[in-house]
Amino acid sequence: MLGKGSKLYSIFRFKCPHCHEGDLYKSSLTSMNGIYNMHEKCTECGQRYELEPGFYWGAMYIGYALSSGYMLIGVSIAIFLMGLSVNQSFALVIILGLFFLPLIARFARSVWINLYIKYDPTAVERYRKKVKE
Ligand SMILES: [Zn+2]
Repeated sequence: MLGKGSKLYSIFRFKCPHCHEGDLYKSSLTSMNGIYNMHEKCTECGQRYELEPGFYWGAMYIGYALSSGYMLIGVSIAIFLMGLSVNQSFALVIILGLFFLPLIARFARSVWINLYIKYDPTAVERYRKKVKE
């Protein structure tokens, strides 16, 4: 299910949705080079990552849903499983969120671009042929 060729592979590994080989982002999240530090196009198949100006505005909806889910689940766990008060629960989840939200932001873009671009196992081969010519 998470193998190459599945959308989940591309989404969770931040890989190009077209070839599943090139990276979406130039650096890891821990390198502090910016959350949205994306390549302009795939280094392996040449797929452009910004399909049109403002393409990633739509990823905000995905990010909103993911961060809402994180807050809901996080606060529920803190209240019902850890026995914290509501204020303590929100404080804990917000502090932990400082570490999770950059990941969610990247994840939202990865989901968004995967909604529009299909996997093509021959993409890398075709791109290399085209570049040689
Ligand atoms: Zn690619």
